[in-house]
Amino acid sequence: MTYIPIQSLDRLRLSIKMNIQEYVPLAKYTTFKIGGPARYFCAAKSEDDILEAVRFAKEKKIPVMVIGGGSNLLVSDAGFNGLIIRCGIKGIEFKDAGKRSVLIEAGAGEDWEDLVAQAVERGLYGVENLSAIPGTVGASPVQNIGAYGFDVSGSIDMVRALDTKTMKFVKFSNSECNFSYRNSRFKHEKGRYIVSKVTYRLAKEGKADASYKDLVEYFGKRKIADPTLKQVRQAVIEVRKAKLPDWRSWGTAGSFFKNPLIDAEHFKRLKREYPEIPGFPEADGRIKVPLGWIIDKVCNSKGLTIGNVSTYEKQALVVVAKPGATATEVIGFANEIMRRVKEKTGIQVEAEVEWAVA
Ligand SMILES: Cc1cc2nc3c(=O)[nH]c(=O)nc-3n(C[C@H](O)[C@H](O)[C@H](O)COP(=O)(O)OP(=O)(O)OC[C@H]3O[C@@H](n4cnc5c(N)ncnc54)[C@H](O)[C@@H]3O)c2cc1C
Repeated sequence: MTYIPIQSLDRLRLSIKMNIQEYVPLAKYTTFKIGGPARYFCAAKSEDDILEAVRFAKEKKIPVMVIGGGSNLLVSDAGFNGLIIRCGIKGIEFKDAGKRSVLIEAGAGEDWEDLVAQAVERGLYGVENLSAIPGTVGASPVQNIGAYGFDVSGSIDMVRALDTKTMKFVKFSNSECNFSYRNSRFKHEKGRYIVSKVTYRLAKEGKADASYKDLVEYFGKRKIADPTLKQVRQAVIEVRKAKLPDWRSWGTAGSFFKNPLIDAEHFKRLKREYPEIPGFPEADGRIKVPLGWIIDKVCNSKGLTIGNVSTYEKQALVVVAKPGATATEVIGFANEIMRRVKEKTGIQVEAEVEWAVA
Protein backbone atom coordinates (compact mmCIF):
# COMPACT_ATOMS: atom_id res chain seq x y z
CA MET A 1 0.00 0.00 0.00
CA THR A 2 1.25 3.53 -0.75
CA TYR A 3 0.70 6.28 1.75
CA ILE A 4 -0.03 9.77 0.42
CA PRO A 5 1.16 12.54 2.77
CA ILE A 6 -1.70 14.64 4.22
CA GLN A 7 -0.27 17.80 2.66
CA SER A 8 -0.43 16.30 -0.83
CA LEU A 9 -4.03 15.21 -0.22
CA ASP A 10 -4.92 18.76 0.84
CA ARG A 11 -3.34 20.09 -2.30
CA LEU A 12 -5.16 17.53 -4.42
CA ARG A 13 -8.50 18.43 -2.80
CA LEU A 14 -7.82 22.12 -3.41
CA SER A 15 -6.86 21.64 -7.03
CA ILE A 16 -10.03 19.56 -7.62
CA LYS A 17 -12.26 22.14 -5.85
CA MET A 18 -10.71 25.05 -7.73
CA ASN A 19 -10.37 23.06 -10.94
CA ILE A 20 -6.73 24.02 -11.26
CA GLN A 21 -5.63 22.85 -14.67
CA GLU A 22 -2.10 22.16 -15.82
CA TYR A 23 -0.19 23.22 -18.93
CA VAL A 24 -2.97 25.40 -20.32
CA PRO A 25 -2.02 27.24 -23.55
CA LEU A 26 -2.36 30.96 -22.88
CA ALA A 27 -2.48 32.18 -26.48
CA LYS A 28 -6.27 31.78 -26.60
CA TYR A 29 -6.65 33.90 -23.45
CA THR A 30 -4.91 36.94 -24.92
CA THR A 31 -5.81 39.29 -27.76
CA PHE A 32 -2.26 38.95 -29.14
CA LYS A 33 -3.08 35.22 -29.47
CA ILE A 34 0.54 34.49 -28.62
CA GLY A 35 2.26 32.67 -25.78
CA GLY A 36 3.13 29.31 -24.30
CA PRO A 37 1.32 27.40 -21.53
CA ALA A 38 0.60 28.27 -17.92
CA ARG A 39 2.03 25.60 -15.61
CA TYR A 40 -1.18 25.99 -13.57
CA PHE A 41 -4.36 27.83 -14.54
CA CYS A 42 -7.68 28.45 -12.84
CA ALA A 43 -10.78 30.59 -13.20
CA ALA A 44 -11.79 32.49 -10.04
CA LYS A 45 -15.49 33.24 -9.68
CA SER A 46 -15.43 34.61 -6.12
CA GLU A 47 -13.12 36.21 -3.58
CA ASP A 48 -12.85 32.81 -1.87
CA ASP A 49 -11.64 31.29 -5.13
CA ILE A 50 -8.93 33.96 -5.34
CA LEU A 51 -7.84 33.28 -1.76
CA GLU A 52 -7.67 29.54 -2.32
CA ALA A 53 -5.80 29.90 -5.59
CA VAL A 54 -3.20 32.17 -4.02
CA ARG A 55 -2.81 29.74 -1.09
CA PHE A 56 -2.23 26.96 -3.61
CA ALA A 57 0.52 28.98 -5.29
CA LYS A 58 2.11 29.93 -1.96
CA GLU A 59 2.22 26.29 -0.93
CA LYS A 60 3.89 25.39 -4.18
CA LYS A 61 6.15 28.47 -3.96
CA ILE A 62 5.30 29.52 -7.49
CA PRO A 63 4.53 33.00 -8.86
CA VAL A 64 0.94 34.11 -9.44
CA MET A 65 -0.39 36.31 -12.17
CA VAL A 66 -4.00 37.39 -12.55
CA ILE A 67 -5.45 38.06 -15.97
CA GLY A 68 -8.76 39.42 -17.22
CA GLY A 69 -9.39 39.61 -20.95
CA GLY A 70 -5.68 39.37 -21.82
CA SER A 71 -5.94 42.53 -23.93
CA ASN A 72 -2.89 44.27 -22.51
CA LEU A 73 -0.63 41.26 -22.26
CA LEU A 74 2.18 39.65 -24.16
CA VAL A 75 2.86 36.13 -22.88
CA SER A 76 6.33 34.66 -23.32
CA ASP A 77 6.74 31.80 -25.85
CA ALA A 78 7.92 29.62 -22.96
CA GLY A 79 4.65 30.32 -21.12
CA PHE A 80 4.25 31.11 -17.44
CA ASN A 81 5.88 28.79 -14.92
CA GLY A 82 3.44 29.56 -12.13
CA LEU A 83 -0.30 29.97 -11.53
CA ILE A 84 -2.45 32.10 -13.83
CA ILE A 85 -5.72 33.15 -12.19
CA ARG A 86 -8.34 34.28 -14.70
CA CYS A 87 -10.59 36.62 -12.80
CA GLY A 88 -14.26 36.00 -13.54
CA ILE A 89 -16.03 37.62 -10.58
CA LYS A 90 -19.37 38.86 -11.89
CA GLY A 91 -22.07 41.28 -10.78
CA ILE A 92 -22.96 44.91 -11.52
CA GLU A 93 -25.04 46.94 -9.05
CA PHE A 94 -26.21 50.52 -9.47
CA LYS A 95 -26.69 52.37 -6.16
CA ASP A 96 -28.20 55.79 -5.84
CA ALA A 97 -25.76 58.08 -4.03
CA GLY A 98 -27.75 61.27 -3.55
CA LYS A 99 -28.77 64.13 -5.79
CA ARG A 100 -25.78 64.15 -8.07
CA SER A 101 -24.30 60.69 -8.41
CA VAL A 102 -24.75 56.96 -8.73
CA LEU A 103 -22.28 54.36 -7.51
CA ILE A 104 -21.66 51.34 -9.72
CA GLU A 105 -20.20 48.34 -7.90
CA ALA A 106 -18.83 45.83 -10.37
CA GLY A 107 -17.11 42.48 -10.05
CA ALA A 108 -13.58 42.43 -11.46
CA GLY A 109 -14.51 39.87 -14.10
CA GLU A 110 -17.24 41.98 -15.69
CA ASP A 111 -16.62 43.14 -19.23
CA TRP A 112 -15.62 46.81 -19.23
CA GLU A 113 -17.53 47.67 -22.40
CA ASP A 114 -20.73 46.11 -20.98
CA LEU A 115 -20.42 48.34 -17.93
CA VAL A 116 -19.98 51.46 -20.08
CA ALA A 117 -22.96 50.49 -22.25
CA GLN A 118 -25.17 50.04 -19.18
CA ALA A 119 -24.02 53.33 -17.63
CA VAL A 120 -24.72 55.32 -20.80
CA GLU A 121 -28.07 53.58 -21.26
CA ARG A 122 -29.03 54.85 -17.78
CA GLY A 123 -27.91 58.37 -18.67
CA LEU A 124 -24.87 58.39 -16.36
CA TYR A 125 -21.86 60.55 -17.21
CA GLY A 126 -18.16 59.83 -16.71
CA VAL A 127 -17.09 56.78 -18.72
CA GLU A 128 -18.62 57.39 -22.16
CA ASN A 129 -15.26 58.44 -23.68
CA LEU A 130 -13.86 55.06 -22.56
CA SER A 131 -16.30 53.13 -24.75
CA ALA A 132 -15.12 50.05 -26.65
CA ILE A 133 -11.90 49.49 -24.70
CA PRO A 134 -11.46 45.72 -24.49
CA GLY A 135 -10.87 43.98 -21.16
CA THR A 136 -12.32 43.65 -17.70
CA VAL A 137 -13.41 45.90 -14.85
CA GLY A 138 -10.62 44.47 -12.64
CA ALA A 139 -7.91 45.65 -15.00
CA SER A 140 -9.38 49.15 -15.45
CA PRO A 141 -7.67 50.67 -12.38
CA VAL A 142 -4.43 48.70 -12.93
CA GLN A 143 -3.20 50.73 -15.87
CA ASN A 144 -5.74 53.53 -15.31
CA ILE A 145 -7.27 53.02 -18.74
CA GLY A 146 -7.78 56.13 -20.77
CA ALA A 147 -8.89 57.41 -24.14
CA TYR A 148 -10.26 60.53 -25.85
CA GLY A 149 -9.16 62.88 -23.10
CA PHE A 150 -10.42 60.80 -20.13
CA ASP A 151 -8.80 58.43 -17.63
CA VAL A 152 -10.88 55.99 -15.58
CA SER A 153 -9.28 57.38 -12.41
CA GLY A 154 -11.68 60.33 -12.77
CA SER A 155 -14.61 57.98 -12.11
CA ILE A 156 -13.23 55.47 -9.60
CA ASP A 157 -14.55 55.74 -6.06
CA MET A 158 -13.05 52.62 -4.49
CA VAL A 159 -11.08 49.49 -5.38
CA ARG A 160 -11.28 46.28 -3.38
CA ALA A 161 -8.38 43.87 -3.72
CA LEU A 162 -6.64 40.95 -2.08
CA ASP A 163 -3.29 41.96 -0.65
CA THR A 164 -1.35 38.77 -1.36
CA LYS A 165 1.28 39.76 1.23
CA THR A 166 -1.15 39.82 4.16
CA MET A 167 -3.82 37.58 2.53
CA LYS A 168 -6.49 40.11 3.53
CA PHE A 169 -8.95 41.96 1.31
CA VAL A 170 -8.42 45.71 1.50
CA LYS A 171 -10.23 48.76 0.15
CA PHE A 172 -8.47 51.67 -1.50
CA SER A 173 -10.08 55.06 -1.93
CA ASN A 174 -9.36 56.91 -5.15
CA SER A 175 -6.43 58.87 -3.70
CA GLU A 176 -4.94 55.68 -2.18
CA CYS A 177 -4.79 54.13 -5.66
CA ASN A 178 -1.96 56.58 -6.60
CA PHE A 179 -3.24 56.98 -10.13
CA SER A 180 -1.16 58.63 -12.81
CA TYR A 181 -0.88 58.31 -16.58
CA ARG A 182 -1.42 54.57 -17.35
CA ASN A 183 -0.26 53.76 -13.85
CA SER A 184 -1.49 53.01 -10.34
CA ARG A 185 -0.34 51.37 -7.12
CA PHE A 186 -1.66 48.05 -8.54
CA LYS A 187 0.72 48.30 -11.47
CA HIS A 188 3.54 49.84 -9.47
CA GLU A 189 3.50 47.07 -6.84
CA LYS A 190 3.15 44.48 -9.57
CA GLY A 191 1.61 41.18 -8.46
CA ARG A 192 0.85 42.28 -4.90
CA TYR A 193 -2.85 43.08 -5.32
CA ILE A 194 -5.64 41.13 -6.98
CA VAL A 195 -8.60 43.38 -7.67
CA SER A 196 -11.96 41.75 -6.89
CA LYS A 197 -14.36 44.70 -7.13
CA VAL A 198 -14.32 48.28 -8.40
CA THR A 199 -16.79 51.03 -7.46
CA TYR A 200 -17.27 53.88 -9.91
CA ARG A 201 -19.01 57.17 -9.12
CA LEU A 202 -20.85 58.57 -12.13
CA ALA A 203 -22.79 61.80 -12.48
CA LYS A 204 -26.56 61.90 -12.99
CA GLU A 205 -26.29 65.17 -14.85
CA GLY A 206 -23.55 66.61 -16.97
CA LYS A 207 -22.32 67.48 -20.38
CA ALA A 208 -20.65 64.91 -22.59
CA ASP A 209 -17.13 66.03 -23.47
CA ALA A 210 -16.36 65.99 -27.18
CA SER A 211 -13.37 68.34 -27.07
CA TYR A 212 -10.81 65.71 -28.13
CA LYS A 213 -9.51 66.40 -31.66
CA ASP A 214 -11.00 63.28 -33.32
CA LEU A 215 -14.39 63.91 -31.73
CA VAL A 216 -14.37 67.59 -32.74
CA GLU A 217 -13.76 66.44 -36.34
CA TYR A 218 -16.47 63.77 -36.10
CA PHE A 219 -19.15 66.17 -34.87
CA GLY A 220 -17.91 69.02 -37.09
CA LYS A 221 -18.52 66.87 -40.18
CA ARG A 222 -22.02 66.06 -38.96
CA LYS A 223 -22.73 69.65 -37.89
CA ILE A 224 -23.65 68.59 -34.35
CA ALA A 225 -22.78 71.45 -31.98
CA ASP A 226 -23.85 70.02 -28.66
CA PRO A 227 -23.68 66.20 -28.73
CA THR A 228 -25.57 64.11 -26.19
CA LEU A 229 -24.11 61.42 -23.96
CA LYS A 230 -25.23 58.66 -26.33
CA GLN A 231 -23.91 60.53 -29.37
CA VAL A 232 -20.47 60.89 -27.77
CA ARG A 233 -20.38 57.17 -26.96
CA GLN A 234 -21.40 56.33 -30.54
CA ALA A 235 -18.76 58.72 -31.91
CA VAL A 236 -16.02 57.13 -29.79
CA ILE A 237 -17.07 53.66 -30.99
CA GLU A 238 -17.03 54.73 -34.64
CA VAL A 239 -13.75 56.66 -34.43
CA ARG A 240 -12.08 53.70 -32.69
CA LYS A 241 -13.44 51.30 -35.30
CA ALA A 242 -11.99 53.40 -38.10
CA LYS A 243 -8.58 53.82 -36.44
CA LEU A 244 -7.85 50.67 -34.47
CA PRO A 245 -7.52 47.04 -35.53
CA ASP A 246 -10.30 44.67 -34.47
CA TRP A 247 -8.61 42.39 -31.94
CA ARG A 248 -10.99 39.58 -32.91
CA SER A 249 -9.21 39.29 -36.25
CA TRP A 250 -5.74 40.73 -35.52
CA GLY A 251 -3.16 39.76 -32.92
CA THR A 252 -2.78 42.97 -30.95
CA ALA A 253 -2.91 44.59 -27.53
CA GLY A 254 -3.76 48.05 -28.87
CA SER A 255 -1.15 50.74 -28.14
CA PHE A 256 2.05 48.89 -27.45
CA PHE A 257 3.87 51.92 -26.03
CA LYS A 258 3.02 54.75 -23.67
CA ASN A 259 2.99 58.30 -24.97
CA PRO A 260 6.17 59.79 -23.47
CA LEU A 261 6.16 62.67 -21.00
CA ILE A 262 9.20 64.84 -21.58
CA ASP A 263 10.49 68.02 -19.95
CA ALA A 264 9.79 71.40 -21.55
CA GLU A 265 13.44 71.92 -22.58
CA HIS A 266 13.54 68.59 -24.42
CA PHE A 267 10.26 69.45 -26.15
CA LYS A 268 11.65 72.84 -27.25
CA ARG A 269 14.66 71.12 -28.85
CA LEU A 270 12.39 68.68 -30.70
CA LYS A 271 10.10 71.51 -31.81
CA ARG A 272 13.10 73.29 -33.39
CA GLU A 273 13.94 70.15 -35.35
CA TYR A 274 10.35 69.03 -36.07
CA PRO A 275 8.19 72.20 -36.01
CA GLU A 276 4.96 70.25 -36.52
CA ILE A 277 5.41 67.99 -33.49
CA PRO A 278 2.31 68.06 -31.26
CA GLY A 279 2.68 68.38 -27.49
CA PHE A 280 0.20 68.59 -24.63
CA PRO A 281 1.25 70.24 -21.35
CA GLU A 282 0.62 68.21 -18.19
CA ALA A 283 -0.12 69.67 -14.74
CA ASP A 284 3.46 68.90 -13.57
CA GLY A 285 5.02 71.00 -16.36
CA ARG A 286 6.02 68.07 -18.54
CA ILE A 287 4.78 67.70 -22.11
CA LYS A 288 2.96 64.61 -23.37
CA VAL A 289 4.01 63.82 -26.93
CA PRO A 290 1.94 61.51 -29.17
CA LEU A 291 4.37 58.71 -29.88
CA GLY A 292 2.32 57.55 -32.87
CA TRP A 293 3.22 60.87 -34.54
CA ILE A 294 6.94 60.35 -33.84
CA ILE A 295 6.93 56.75 -35.08
CA ASP A 296 5.13 57.90 -38.22
CA LYS A 297 6.60 61.30 -39.09
CA VAL A 298 10.04 61.21 -37.47
CA CYS A 299 10.95 57.52 -37.76
CA ASN A 300 8.97 56.89 -40.93
CA SER A 301 7.86 53.58 -39.40
CA LYS A 302 4.07 53.61 -39.67
CA GLY A 303 3.15 50.31 -41.32
CA LEU A 304 6.71 49.03 -40.88
CA THR A 305 6.75 45.21 -41.09
CA ILE A 306 9.49 42.91 -39.86
CA GLY A 307 8.59 39.24 -40.34
CA ASN A 308 5.13 38.70 -38.85
CA VAL A 309 4.94 41.93 -36.89
CA SER A 310 4.00 45.47 -37.96
CA THR A 311 2.99 48.86 -36.70
CA TYR A 312 -0.65 49.30 -37.67
CA GLU A 313 -1.10 51.19 -40.94
CA LYS A 314 -3.71 53.55 -39.43
CA GLN A 315 -2.11 54.13 -36.01
CA ALA A 316 1.62 53.67 -35.57
CA LEU A 317 1.43 53.27 -31.78
CA VAL A 318 -0.40 49.98 -32.26
CA VAL A 319 1.59 46.82 -32.93
CA VAL A 320 -0.14 44.00 -34.83
CA ALA A 321 1.00 40.41 -35.27
CA LYS A 322 0.08 37.90 -37.97
CA PRO A 323 -1.01 34.39 -36.99
CA GLY A 324 2.13 32.38 -36.27
CA ALA A 325 4.05 35.33 -34.80
CA THR A 326 6.01 34.60 -31.63
CA ALA A 327 6.46 36.72 -28.52
CA THR A 328 10.18 36.83 -29.30
CA GLU A 329 9.40 38.41 -32.67
CA VAL A 330 7.07 40.96 -31.10
CA ILE A 331 9.65 41.92 -28.47
CA GLY A 332 12.37 42.18 -31.14
CA PHE A 333 10.11 44.43 -33.22
CA ALA A 334 9.19 46.61 -30.24
CA ASN A 335 12.89 46.99 -29.37
CA GLU A 336 13.61 48.11 -32.93
CA ILE A 337 10.89 50.80 -32.73
CA MET A 338 12.24 51.94 -29.35
CA ARG A 339 15.76 52.10 -30.80
CA ARG A 340 14.61 54.24 -33.74
CA VAL A 341 12.72 56.66 -31.50
CA LYS A 342 15.69 56.98 -29.12
CA GLU A 343 18.11 57.58 -31.98
CA LYS A 344 15.99 60.31 -33.59
CA THR A 345 14.58 62.08 -30.53
CA GLY A 346 16.52 60.99 -27.44
CA ILE A 347 13.23 59.74 -25.93
CA GLN A 348 13.37 56.48 -23.99
CA VAL A 349 10.05 54.82 -24.79
CA GLU A 350 8.22 52.65 -22.26
CA ALA A 351 5.98 49.71 -23.13
CA GLU A 352 2.31 49.98 -22.13
CA VAL A 353 1.72 46.27 -22.70
CA GLU A 354 2.44 43.96 -19.76
CA TRP A 355 4.93 41.14 -20.18
CA ALA A 356 3.86 37.79 -18.71
CA VAL A 357 6.91 35.67 -18.04
CA ALA A 358 8.00 33.42 -15.17
C1 LIG B 1 -7.60 46.91 -29.78
C2 LIG B 1 -7.23 47.38 -28.39
C3 LIG B 1 -7.46 48.70 -28.04
C4 LIG B 1 -7.12 49.17 -26.76
N1 LIG B 1 -7.37 50.48 -26.45
C5 LIG B 1 -7.06 50.94 -25.22
C6 LIG B 1 -7.34 52.30 -24.87
O1 LIG B 1 -7.89 53.07 -25.65
N2 LIG B 1 -6.98 52.73 -23.64
C7 LIG B 1 -6.38 51.89 -22.73
O2 LIG B 1 -6.09 52.36 -21.61
N3 LIG B 1 -6.12 50.60 -23.03
C8 LIG B 1 -6.44 50.11 -24.24
N4 LIG B 1 -6.16 48.81 -24.56
C9 LIG B 1 -5.50 47.95 -23.58
C10 LIG B 1 -6.47 47.11 -22.73
O3 LIG B 1 -7.74 47.07 -23.32
C11 LIG B 1 -6.61 47.65 -21.29
O4 LIG B 1 -5.35 47.73 -20.68
C12 LIG B 1 -7.52 46.78 -20.44
O5 LIG B 1 -7.78 47.40 -19.22
C13 LIG B 1 -6.93 45.40 -20.17
O6 LIG B 1 -7.92 44.62 -19.54
P1 LIG B 1 -7.78 43.05 -19.44
O7 LIG B 1 -8.87 42.56 -18.57
O8 LIG B 1 -7.72 42.47 -20.80
O9 LIG B 1 -6.38 42.90 -18.69
P2 LIG B 1 -5.23 41.86 -18.98
O10 LIG B 1 -4.61 42.15 -20.30
O11 LIG B 1 -5.71 40.49 -18.72
O12 LIG B 1 -4.18 42.28 -17.85
C14 LIG B 1 -3.50 43.51 -17.93
C15 LIG B 1 -2.75 43.77 -16.61
O13 LIG B 1 -3.70 43.95 -15.57
C16 LIG B 1 -3.50 42.97 -14.55
N5 LIG B 1 -4.83 42.55 -14.09
C17 LIG B 1 -5.87 42.10 -14.84
N6 LIG B 1 -6.92 41.83 -14.04
C18 LIG B 1 -6.53 42.11 -12.78
C19 LIG B 1 -7.16 42.01 -11.49
N7 LIG B 1 -8.41 41.59 -11.33
N8 LIG B 1 -6.43 42.38 -10.39
C20 LIG B 1 -5.15 42.83 -10.51
N9 LIG B 1 -4.50 42.91 -11.69
C21 LIG B 1 -5.19 42.56 -12.81
C22 LIG B 1 -2.74 41.83 -15.22
O14 LIG B 1 -1.98 41.10 -14.26
C23 LIG B 1 -1.86 42.60 -16.18
O15 LIG B 1 -0.75 43.13 -15.49
C24 LIG B 1 -6.52 48.30 -25.82
C25 LIG B 1 -6.31 46.97 -26.18
C26 LIG B 1 -6.66 46.50 -27.44
C27 LIG B 1 -6.45 45.06 -27.79
